[in-house]
Formats: sequence, C-alpha cells, structure tokens
Amino acid sequence: MRTAAGEQTPGMIRGGLVDRFGRRHNNLRISVTDRCNLRCIYCMPEEALFLPREELLTFEEITRFVQTVQPLGINKIRLTGGEPLLRKDLHKLVHMLVQVPGIEDLSLTTNGLLLAQQAPRLYEAGLRRLNVSLDTLDPQHFRQLARREGLEQVLAGIEVARRLGFSPIKINMVALRGYAEKDVVPLARFCRHNGLELRIIEYMPIGADQWERDKVVTADECLQWIGEQVCPLQPVASDPTAPAQEYAYSDGQGRVGVIASISRPFCHSCNRLRLTAEGKLRYCLFALEESDVKPLLRRQPFDSQAVQELVRQTVWAKWDGHQIHSAQFVKPQRTMHAIGG
Ligand code: SAM
Ligand code: SF4
Repeated sequence: MRTAAGEQTPGMIRGGLVDRFGRRHNNLRISVTDRCNLRCIYCMPEEALFLPREELLTFEEITRFVQTVQPLGINKIRLTGGEPLLRKDLHKLVHMLVQVPGIEDLSLTTNGLLLAQQAPRLYEAGLRRLNVSLDTLDPQHFRQLARREGLEQVLAGIEVARRLGFSPIKINMVALRGYAEKDVVPLARFCRHNGLELRIIEYMPIGADQWERDKVVTADECLQWIGEQVCPLQPVASDPTAPAQEYAYSDGQGRVGVIASISRPFCHSCNRLRLTAEGKLRYCLFALEESDVKPLLRRQPFDSQAVQELVRQTVWAKWDGHQIHSAQFVKPQRTMHAIGG
C-alpha cells in the first residue's frame, strides 16, 4: 500500500499517524512495569507506590496493541519501564513482538542490574539492540545517583551482553552537574574501549526531585570535555527524526550520541508515542493528558478499529512541543519511572 507521503510500508493504512504539525509517528515506547530496583535521584522518589499486578497490560494485550497499530505505521518499538527486566519472563514478550510483521526495530532500555542473568534468554528470543543506563563508573557516585548498590552487576551485565553479540549496545548517561564533570570522560573512554556507544542525555524535569536548570550539564559541555580529553569529535549526519545527534571520533574509533532535550529541543521532529505499563497512551513525555487503551484491549470481542481511532485521536491532540523553557511549563504528575523513558 502506498501512503499519502508516497512511501511504501507493508499493510500501512493510508496516511499513517500524522499529527496537526505534519509529524509522522512510527516509534512506540512500551513500559512493561513501573517498578524498579534502583531509585535514581533524577527519575523517581525513594518511596513510590507501584501498580498492582492486575493493572498491568498482559503480554498478549501489549502484542495485540502492537499488531493493531503497526498498520498505522508503527515499526519501531522500545521496551522500557521502570526496570523492564523486573517483569517476569520478559523474553516471552520479546519473542511475541519480534514475530509481529512490519516491526523492523525492537530494542530494550535497562539499568542492567539483571542483565547478566537474562541476556541469554533475551538474545535467544530475538532481541539485539540494547541501551544500558550507566551514569558513572565511580562506585560512590553510583550509590549517590541510584540510591542503591549495583555498579558491579551492571558492568557484568554489559560484559555478558557484549559477549553474546548484542549490537548496538548504547550506554545512557544522564548528565547531572556535580557528577558528569568527573564521570563523562571515564565513561567515554570505557565505551570506546569496549565497542559501546555513549549516549549523553540532558537532565529533564520529569523526576521526583526539584529540577533546577543549573543542574543540567549541556551536551555541548560534555562533547567539549570528551573532545579535549579523549579524542576530537565531529558531527555526523544522523536520522533527523532520531532524538540523538551523533558525533564520531576523528580517529574512527567509535561514536558518541547526545540527547539534548533541554539545550536543543527536537520536538519539531518527534515521532514517538508512549504506552504506560497500565495501558495509558501518551503523545509526549511531558503530556498532561493521556488516553486509556486498556478497556479497549480488554473488550470482547476485540475491536481493532476502535483502538486505531483512539490512537489517531491521541496523535491528533499532540501539542507542538514541551514548554520547559516557558513560565507556562507544568511538570506532569507522573515521574519518569511511571511513564517509561
Ligand atoms: N530502568 C531502565 C533504565 O534506567 O534504563 C529503563 C527506564 S528509565 C526511566 C529510561 C531512561 O530514562 C534511562 O536511561 C534514564 O537514565 C532516563 N531518565 C530518567 N529520568 C530522567 C531525567 N529526569 N532526565 C533525563 N533522563 C532521565
Ligand atoms: Fe529505575 Fe531506570 Fe528510573 Fe533509574 S532511571 S530509577 S533504573 S527506572
């Protein structure tokens, strides 16, 4: 089938998920749990109330949702959370999703604590792309940022994933002032040495803590430190719809990506939707409204058109972008772990 924009996508319904600003949505982030085994200071409170198990979408419901939205043009999926590896038998969901026709890209974001045990099953189920969150190689910083122990486990998880052949493996680092100044260069060296791509993420006002602009270390600051102390970097042409901008080391030994949501917002090219663990569809990380998909996914008989209509309405309601730099900005009630990063 040929779409309004002319490109060909198997089974895609004419027009796809285009919003009022002409942005075409093909990217879905699915949270499989709001629980976590860390308590990162920028993401969630120390004490959090988690959803009861029965509130979570089942693997069958998630898969049904993906099968229903794929013909609308969704072809990229990222599993996230909370900590997705806390969801029992996650490899079974991976296995179900890799079989959905038209899903071209499946990836997982994890804090890596349980990766060493689960990586073989995930690989066998068909997962290849991983983002592992790691802000520091310093055990004391890790303890302060994550409010738990676990650095050794994360490093062991990365090593197991590397040996199994996961590729690419990207290392997500949130750059927080007071930490990143010391941590970004060792992390960049570690990634370069191990064939990993460092992803520097600017700190966003979506956690439980009091966000302050001064705590944001910009992507440019990090790039400068890496360029001066590790190896010069050059920008490379990246996918204009991807949140990360890519830089290559001038000696050809690897890349660094930056997600500069604060200093260089990329809302104008946003192609993402988010499904929370309990089935709320969000058009933006910072959205103040959300659509409830779960009742439609549990309705008998299943009405795929009703689900597609709700998804279209959600996309149509999408705003032009977050208002972080405006006095009108309202922080969403949900913190990051309850949305899915
Ligand atoms: N628990 C998994 C993990 O940490 O990778 C997946 C969920 S976590 C919410 C997804 C990503 O969001 C992580 O890379 C994390 O560093 C990032 N994140 C969380 N809070 C953030 C914030 N306030 N600003 C920027 N990134 C944030
Ligand atoms: Fe957990 Fe990931 Fe949030 Fe850290 S960033 S508290 S690991 S969900």
